[in-house]
Amino acid sequence: MKDQKILHLINKEKTRQREYVELIASENYVSADVLEAVGSILTNKYAEGYPNARYYGGCEFIDQIEQLAIDRLKKIFNAKFANVQSHSGSQANQGAYMALLNPGDKIMGMSLTSGGHLTHGFKVSSSGQFYQAQAYEVDPKTHELNYETILAQALKFKPKLIICGASAYSRIIDWGEFRKIADKVGAYLLADVAHIAGLIVADQHPNPLDFGVDVVTSTTHKTLRGPRGGIILTNNEELAKKIDKAVFPGIQGGPLEHVIAAKAIAFGEADTKEFNQYIENVCLNAGAFANEFINLGAKVITNGTDNHLFLVDVKTSYDITGQRAEDLLLRANIVVNKNTIPFDKLSPSIASGVRFGTPAMTTMGWNQDDFIKLTVIIDKIFKTNDNKFADLQKGQVKEIGKKYHE
Ligand SMILES: *Cc1c(COP(=O)(O)O)cnc(C)c1O
Repeated sequence: MKDQKILHLINKEKTRQREYVELIASENYVSADVLEAVGSILTNKYAEGYPNARYYGGCEFIDQIEQLAIDRLKKIFNAKFANVQSHSGSQANQGAYMALLNPGDKIMGMSLTSGGHLTHGFKVSSSGQFYQAQAYEVDPKTHELNYETILAQALKFKPKLIICGASAYSRIIDWGEFRKIADKVGAYLLADVAHIAGLIVADQHPNPLDFGVDVVTSTTHKTLRGPRGGIILTNNEELAKKIDKAVFPGIQGGPLEHVIAAKAIAFGEADTKEFNQYIENVCLNAGAFANEFINLGAKVITNGTDNHLFLVDVKTSYDITGQRAEDLLLRANIVVNKNTIPFDKLSPSIASGVRFGTPAMTTMGWNQDDFIKLTVIIDKIFKTNDNKFADLQKGQVKEIGKKYHE
């Protein structure tokens, strides 16, 4: 690379990614093949439109690449229709909303503090500005979804669209219950599986398309372990046409065909026994990780996890804020994100919780023992709540991952 400034920073980031224990639940490490495709000459090509219906010449190979991505995605999700052009998870949602709704329509999604995403109707997001949004919460006692109270709220509010799916919810989502609620109020149902897409593909979480969900949106870079991007799926032909129109020309121009090629590669990788085994390990690791926190006396939201992530209430458990917990762990080379917990009294920028996830370190080869050892260190760091002590744990943290780097 000729640009020395950028090269230097990429190399710095490369070292950071190798030396830090990555526990951010939405991050992962992609394969060399995915990286190669993202860095390929495909970025040079304009291809507005869809395979065999483009607004630019010279798309014969691009068409085959995008068709492969579509076909592989349909196969792994057992879906009839797929759009692979969304630039991100947020744009997949924006596209799906444009296909299903008119400005001003009512939508209902999970609140941010209960574990939902900004794009599910939060006021600072376009989803909260273009549509009339009302949020549902998790149950105040169990911190799990309570389908009866969501039904009662939906009957009152009468949304045109119900959004299910989350960014910080550690339990199985019952798509069938959501379908019943949507049917009772005559709403469309959208499942945003951005976090759990990999689990669905590997049969570690039910597939919303098996329960008659109208539209499924997702990212491709979280548990699915592909390039940064979004996808939209449906089994309804009429909706599929509306979705294609909404994505292009509705909200996007030229698709990122280098990213779409990388998506195709990732979908191929996800269609293997190795990937199923990987996801099984992700979930086993998360279970062991959460259990060890509980053994050590910490409060884990919902007392455990069914998936790849969980939240620790660090305010109640250790009398520190999420922000402080994040800062302390960074000193020990551990990267997490502070996160609000259900009904959090602190703002999202301080927060009472920390979100822990296992997808990235499981890709690096970590097993349950490694996570248990790490939990003991994290617990001590939180209990001691001292910068110098946290700094001193770096060596032990590095020791856990060392065998995977040799
Ligand atoms: C991560 C996430 C998104 C957004 O993905 P981006 O690619 O960051 O735009 C949308 N919905 C949910 C539930 C997510 O967790």
